[in-house]
Amino acid sequence: MFDVLETWLRRSAERIHEAAPELTALDQAIGDGDHGTNMDRGFTAIVVQLDAGTPEADGDRALAGTVLRTAGRTLISTVGGAAGPLYGTAFMRGGSAILAADPGLSPMDVLLTALDAAITGIAGLGKATIGEKTMLDALIPGLTAGRATQAAGGDLVAVVVAMADAAEAGVASTIPMLATKGRASYLGERSIGHQDPGATSSALLLRTLADVVAA
Ligand code: ADP
Ligand code: MG
Repeated sequence: MFDVLETWLRRSAERIHEAAPELTALDQAIGDGDHGTNMDRGFTAIVVQLDAGTPEADGDRALAGTVLRTAGRTLISTVGGAAGPLYGTAFMRGGSAILAADPGLSPMDVLLTALDAAITGIAGLGKATIGEKTMLDALIPGLTAGRATQAAGGDLVAVVVAMADAAEAGVASTIPMLATKGRASYLGERSIGHQDPGATSSALLLRTLADVVAA
């Protein structure tokens, strides 16, 4: 599990770096134009930390949970804006869920439990729910699709691909939405017609996970 997590974090850092201009342009339209640089700074810091070596941990899952929690703390201290605390909390909650998971759970169940915990963390901190033009509009459909695919008997690759596909559809769904949370809500009706930057980065993270798991 740690191998997949580390590869996902490193690949995500590359993709966030490549996507930073797009994320920033999206945030220029309905925010303050810092989402790309914020996320790039945070994921660069995560990679620096991974390069410094892995912590002591009692087994593979404990290592994955610990590293994900540390990555969350790094995001909180480096990303800034609204997204820093939100993604940071999400990663920390996801890491805690991995640490607390019953050892008998399958990797798929651990992943779905961690994503669920991450979403609960974001929703609690941001006081947001689906339909408010935020990262939750990518993440919640992603989790729902992942669970549905699991229930239909899909394997881990099918589950993560379904999560990424649904998250990307969720990004598109933010375009006609009225923003009621975060900076974009200051625009009121003028937020309509623009794609949410945080949903876009969330879908990018889930697509990267799908690519890493499928590889
Ligand atoms: P800031 O808005 O402080 O400049 P960023 O630009 O880094 O922070 O991130 C903006 C993104 O954060 C938005 O596109 C949205 O997806 C997400 N966001 C903002 N407020 C909330 C909230 N209350 N709940 C969930 N997500 C939010
Ligand atoms: Mg911003």
